[in-house]
Amino acid sequence: MGVVFDIKRFAVHDGPGIRITIFLKGCPLSCWWCHNPESISAAPQKVKKQLKLNGKVYTEEETVGKEVGVSEVMQEVARERIVMEESGGGVTFSGGEPMLQSDFLLDLLMASKKEGYHTSVDTSGLARQEDFEKIIPFTDLFLFDLKIMNEELHKKYTGVSNRKILDNLKFLSDNKKTIRIRIPVVKDVNDSEENISQTIFFLKTLKGIEQVDLLPYHHIGKSKYERFGLKYKMPDQIETSDEEIQAIKSKFENEGFKTKIGG
Ligand code: SF4
Repeated sequence: MGVVFDIKRFAVHDGPGIRITIFLKGCPLSCWWCHNPESISAAPQKVKKQLKLNGKVYTEEETVGKEVGVSEVMQEVARERIVMEESGGGVTFSGGEPMLQSDFLLDLLMASKKEGYHTSVDTSGLARQEDFEKIIPFTDLFLFDLKIMNEELHKKYTGVSNRKILDNLKFLSDNKKTIRIRIPVVKDVNDSEENISQTIFFLKTLKGIEQVDLLPYHHIGKSKYERFGLKYKMPDQIETSDEEIQAIKSKFENEGFKTKIGG
């Protein structure tokens, strides 16, 4: 059994083809820009939801996150089999941090491979190396977040050191896995010349990097914070301009990385 907080069908940014993405609840990071604050706490949560009907506002309670078994999840995945097969898609496990529920994730990946699905794991990279080792044989593609290279800044903006994360990325590369790097681009946080150069320098030491995705910061998750009783730490954050994102993209491309803006 594990806790899932969302299922997205027809996902086109979480790996090749059209996919179904399963979101596992719980994350050991607390990134300032996180647009899924409902993913951070590992247990199901009760939150208040406001509905407007005929000019009146009604408040109702909803539970975010549900404890489910592997077979229940696989039934949902099976409904998308034709779409996945015809588009060259598959199933992606995301979060939160899916590795936080490592046994559940392993069972889901094994069940997916048994059915012949292409599998992706979208990870922050913060997990025990032995847990990565277990899922490697059943994971076709890793979507690996790389946020900030400077350890102190990483701690400031995510709450954790990046050492284990960088070690795990190297570990996957050494194990000849196919990896897509995902970089949230947050203005004045990680878009500096220095951070981009250090990121490129590190990635050039690795093998198996099939693509770099640049994910520009946006305000989408801001309104959710209040509902979850959390403080939004970037109320005045401005978005990166198209020109700035294009300039970062060119830097990666000039170093030979296939680079995309968006997932
Ligand atoms: S790693 Fe992802 S899910 Fe976890 S806090 Fe950061 S942005 Fe949110």
